[in-house]
Amino acid sequence: MSLCFATNNAHKLSEVRQILGNSFEVLSLQEIGCREELPENQDTLEGNSAEKALYVFEHFKVDCFADDTGLEVKTLDGAPGVYSARYAGPQRSAQDNMHLLLQNLSDVPDRTARFRTVVTLIWQGEKFVFEGSVAGSIALQPTGSQGFGYDPVFVPDGYSKSFAEMSVQEKNTLSHRKRAIEKLVDFLQNQHRL
Ligand code: IMP
Repeated sequence: MSLCFATNNAHKLSEVRQILGNSFEVLSLQEIGCREELPENQDTLEGNSAEKALYVFEHFKVDCFADDTGLEVKTLDGAPGVYSARYAGPQRSAQDNMHLLLQNLSDVPDRTARFRTVVTLIWQGEKFVFEGSVAGSIALQPTGSQGFGYDPVFVPDGYSKSFAEMSVQEKNTLSHRKRAIEKLVDFLQNQHRL
């Protein structure tokens, strides 16, 4: 069974391929001939993941799924949230985003945060939604060089190291995306059995 993962982020594609193993063939956007930027004009994670998946389905007529993820910081009322990629501006720089986040949290004792992923699957023309999250906190400074985005400043609960200090395999044992994708896999496996 094959389906397209509607993302232009190579890190996410390899994370998801690693999570899914041999159970499904995950096609990239390039492999289905989609070379354009996907629309992301909504103000919720649910809205953006649906917009991306529906765009690919309507233009390329393939089963597909898209995700949208946000880092939600409690004392910042859930910011950067759906604006995580461009928190510090349209240049979408991970360094600038982390810098701004640490600045906005200086002197803030409660650094509670979570990553939340919403996955929208378009399967045989129908839409299904799955969610996964991981709780943690924002470190005082970035550490580690693996991963992407806010990984260097996110320390999951129960660990004393950041996501960026973990291998892809270790991050994938507990990540928000892994939890959402697992629900997607359970759903697809159940469909297969019917
Ligand atoms: P996206 O819209 O799902 O691509 O995610 C929005 C932004 O959230 C990304 O540009 C990253 O800054 C951040 N992000 C998403 N997933 C992760 C992750 O697993 N680790 C660190 N940052 C992430």
